Amino acid sequence: MHVNRAAKLTAVPGGLSPQALALACCGMLVASQVFAADWPAESKNWFERGPGGGLSILLVVLWWLWIPLWAGCSSWVAKDMGRWNLSATVWPMAMTFPFFLAAVIAWWIPSAIAGLAIMGVAWAVPTFTYVFVRNGRAPNHEKVLTPGHILDCAADALRPMGIKIKRPPKEVKDSLPEVQLADADGTPMMANSEDEAQAAQDAAGLLSIAIAARSMKLMVERNAATATVRQLVDGVWSTPRKPAAQGVFASKKDEEWENVPAPTPKAAAGAVAALERVCRIDVQGKKSRRQGKCVALSDGKKIPLSLEVASSDALERAVVSLQLPIKPLTTITELGVSEKVAEKLQTLLSYDRGLIVLAAAASNGLPTTFDVVVNAADRMVRDFASLEDAHDPPIEIQNVKRCTWDAAGGISPLDALTQAMRSYPQGIVTRDLSDPELAKRLVEMAASDQLVIVSVPATDAIDAVAQLLKLGVSREALSHAVVGVLAGRLLRRLCPRCREAFATPPDLAAKLRVPVERVPQLWRASPIGCRLCRGLGYASRTGIFELAGGENFSKAILKGDRKLLSQAAVKDGMRPLGVAALDMVLAGETSLEERQRVLQKS
Ligand SMILES: [Zn+2]
Repeated sequence: MHVNRAAKLTAVPGGLSPQALALACCGMLVASQVFAADWPAESKNWFERGPGGGLSILLVVLWWLWIPLWAGCSSWVAKDMGRWNLSATVWPMAMTFPFFLAAVIAWWIPSAIAGLAIMGVAWAVPTFTYVFVRNGRAPNHEKVLTPGHILDCAADALRPMGIKIKRPPKEVKDSLPEVQLADADGTPMMANSEDEAQAAQDAAGLLSIAIAARSMKLMVERNAATATVRQLVDGVWSTPRKPAAQGVFASKKDEEWENVPAPTPKAAAGAVAALERVCRIDVQGKKSRRQGKCVALSDGKKIPLSLEVASSDALERAVVSLQLPIKPLTTITELGVSEKVAEKLQTLLSYDRGLIVLAAAASNGLPTTFDVVVNAADRMVRDFASLEDAHDPPIEIQNVKRCTWDAAGGISPLDALTQAMRSYPQGIVTRDLSDPELAKRLVEMAASDQLVIVSVPATDAIDAVAQLLKLGVSREALSHAVVGVLAGRLLRRLCPRCREAFATPPDLAAKLRVPVERVPQLWRASPIGCRLCRGLGYASRTGIFELAGGENFSKAILKGDRKLLSQAAVKDGMRPLGVAALDMVLAGETSLEERQRVLQKS
């Protein structure tokens, strides 16, 4: 872990700049000398003041040497204090004013040596007090001025001169976020008894591990005899992991992660009860299905949680969904679409007419793909209308007019389309197309003179065609309308820090039809893991995509079965999902196991 070091001059928050103060301080002193009635003669004695208060050059130089030392320390304190939640008023004041006063006194008191000593004390007392206080709050590896830290600094300083000091490996503690349960408004939960406090702590502990691992869901299941905890990370359920050796890693070699032991049924029941309490779920009624909302306060951030509990006499299952902040994707290539496919898709989006279908299986990022692709269309120049269910409106896309249907209120999707057409849009978009009448009408319009973008839950591009045909769309209309079908899946990326290389087995290379010389080694997930992936072996996700569309594909829709359609799409230049995934394997970005897992999902 990187350790903060002193001596970089930056501004102190709140307008107190050490440089400015140092300048003001010196300026005042120089001015006071210049305007003094008699300019004191320079002292010939090195350590005593001369007649009229004059100083020797040595003493003046020593006085000036205190200034950068003090300025550097104040600046470091200003930067450092925020990390340990120390007062932003007290510490800058303590660092500045005693020293300022001492500097003025030092210039004027009879003994110059005493003056310099006073400056030293005014610098040292606040600085070391600060170090003492902040070290009390910092973990071991971030403490400063400890023997280890001083050795580190010395080694860093000597290295450029070619001198190497051997240092023991740094111990890095695994730090989990501190989690506190709070109700939906964010008010922290108060425990009424020791048991309740323990239960809340157990629940917070599970959430802490889940949050650190970027889990979207946490599941606690128990019967009378056993309990299990699982978490959903990047679309895969797994057992929570923890560092094997008390969470302290002396070196990369020592880093070993293992499954967190399952809680006892009693502890699991307590943790779920604590969550139900904070969600204000009425457990008296003992409904078999209960749900509620609360918040996890994690290192000062509010993470909304929703809890669903299903229980029978023998079994209780609680699922917590965590709304972790995610970085929104904005461009097509950020989704994982290759440059070539992105270029082709961008061309399709500029057409005046035609049907663009976006497809993905459930929880494979279809809403995100849809938003990003519609955003990439030139909706600022052309008018787009979005057809949406009034009861399930998605996130609004800028400059796209919304027209809603409301089944309960007697407004059908076709009515919404009619309403949209009144403003003569140049593009129509709708998600999760499932209404047969709307599907038929949109495809007809796309075949004649309208650009239509729809999303369809489907496993791949060929399946998307099958899904549209299932909705009753005619083959002829679809064949005329389709300009492109973009289908994608989410694939986990190997942790770049702990992935393991292995020699490519020749028979595997033959099966994959790649020469062994080209890919001498492949990579797999480490079973041990590291702190980057939190013991999981995979550290992030990306999309893989296939784009079907072209003359052969359109012709094949007229008569084609799955195999024929697939061949036609490849003839038109589609790189199927399997090939896209294989590229990732060969590049060491993912494992063969992950490729297989993702491709099986159909
Ligand atoms: Zn790792």
